[in-house]
Amino acid sequence: MAETFDVVIIGSGPGGYVAAIRAGQLGLKTAIVERDNRLGGTCLLRGCIPTKALLWTAELWSHVLHAAEFGIDLKNPVMNWAQAMQHKTKVVTKGANAVDYLMKKNKVQVFKGQGRISGKGKVEVALATGEKQVLEAKKTILASGSMCKSIPALPVDDKLIFDSDSILELPAIPESIIVVGAGAVGCEFASIFAHVGAKTTILEFLPHLLPIEDEDASKEIEKQFRRRKIDYELSARVEKVEPAGKGIRVSMQTPAGPKTLEASILLSAVGRAPVTDGIGVENTNIKLDKGFIPTDGLMRTTEPGVYAIGDVVPTPMLAHVASAEGILAVEHIAGKEVVPINYDLTPNATYCYPEVASVGLTEKKARERGYDVKTGIFPFSAITKAAISEEGLGMCKVVAEKKYDEVLGVHLVGPHATELLAEACVALRLETTTEEIARTMHAHPTLSEIMHETAEITLGHPIHI
Ligand code: FAD
Ligand code: AMP
Repeated sequence: MAETFDVVIIGSGPGGYVAAIRAGQLGLKTAIVERDNRLGGTCLLRGCIPTKALLWTAELWSHVLHAAEFGIDLKNPVMNWAQAMQHKTKVVTKGANAVDYLMKKNKVQVFKGQGRISGKGKVEVALATGEKQVLEAKKTILASGSMCKSIPALPVDDKLIFDSDSILELPAIPESIIVVGAGAVGCEFASIFAHVGAKTTILEFLPHLLPIEDEDASKEIEKQFRRRKIDYELSARVEKVEPAGKGIRVSMQTPAGPKTLEASILLSAVGRAPVTDGIGVENTNIKLDKGFIPTDGLMRTTEPGVYAIGDVVPTPMLAHVASAEGILAVEHIAGKEVVPINYDLTPNATYCYPEVASVGLTEKKARERGYDVKTGIFPFSAITKAAISEEGLGMCKVVAEKKYDEVLGVHLVGPHATELLAEACVALRLETTTEEIARTMHAHPTLSEIMHETAEITLGHPIHI
């Protein structure tokens, strides 16, 4: 007799495992199926966490190189890449162990193997042992995530041409690297390699780095990358990569005509594709849309009893979005009153140096939606706390609506921008005004004063400029 579960979740990324925890908390009998030998998904094993561990090493190294400015003489510091990789692995392992613990704590049964919907209310698991086990599922959540997108122009071989999975195992720092794609993943790896000493060039098809950010934020990070000697070619379409000497040669089309560029290795960071193969979509009435699983606002697919969350659905491909969708789906399954997610309030964070973070509407989007817009931009160079660590780089931009003064968007480029963003997220959720932010006392000296000052400048009376 197959065991019956209230919920069976396929995939244990930040969508699936968070959904499982909430299901356990709500007293639902829950199973999670994962084909990888560790739980945690892309985010924990190959994404958010290992990249941030390497970014930490890279940032620390750049501080070490400038330590003399702050009165600390370090004689002949050495970058030990192997140790940096070990640190990354340690952090990932700790995170994966924590997910194991949380599954036990919340009485979630873990099945290791490939899971697929095999019929109405049935999930078949091809166990790592070679056996098959069928689980009866009152409800199923598809949380199979995404994988690196591959394009014919960039044939990944893990020797000279890498994707974001294989570059995480790079045994040594390359002399030079070309990063194709200037989204968050491309810009973060460019920051890592540039800081640890590789000559780094980014090639991006669109006219800006981080093209989904507000144009002023993109221009600011372009300025900051130039200062850090990260080269980039914008509006460049990469057409071919071939071996050249010990490295590679890239051919591309640019506004100035065809160009070639050589480097030791290349990273393809051209985006991610949803994983829908092998999860049994063919045994449902779900019709994929550009490869993604469509859902309604409560994460229900067109197949009764089947939900989908995270990177496999056409919403922002971010860990916190996957988790929010997982919680929403499970609470709906448990019969709680829930409301659809407002994706306008999705925080975006890129952990390059300096960091880029935003929430809400860009100025362009706000105008497109018909708002009468006012904006204010304030530089980190006028924030004393940033000057202490010589990090007076970047700016904050507030996009607000003129009549009611409501804040519509906040865009940060600067030190610890990803942490500073939380205040803006709350502000937008509470539909606050620039006046309320300006009247909120912010501790001095802190980097958070940038929010206060930007609100003041949007109102037309900045204090420190
Ligand atoms: P995933 O995390 O992709 O998990 C899906 C899981 O499902 C996988 O473990 C997979 O093995 C499993 N699976 C798939 N099919 C089956 C099957 N048939 N049976 C069993 N198991 C299956 N996001 C952020 O918010 N912040 C960041 O800083 C950030 N950094 C990133 C850096 C990189 C380099 C990358 C690649 C991504 C980054 N992301 C970041 C994106 C983030 O990792 C994803 O948005 C997030 O992991 C999506 O979660 P998910 O649960 O939908 O899917
Ligand atoms: P994201 O999807 O945010 O991870 O970003 C991927 C980036 O790669 C996008 O900004 C794309 O414009 C860019 N990109 C995709 N294909 C190419 C290509 N052939 N040449 C240059 N840039 C590309």
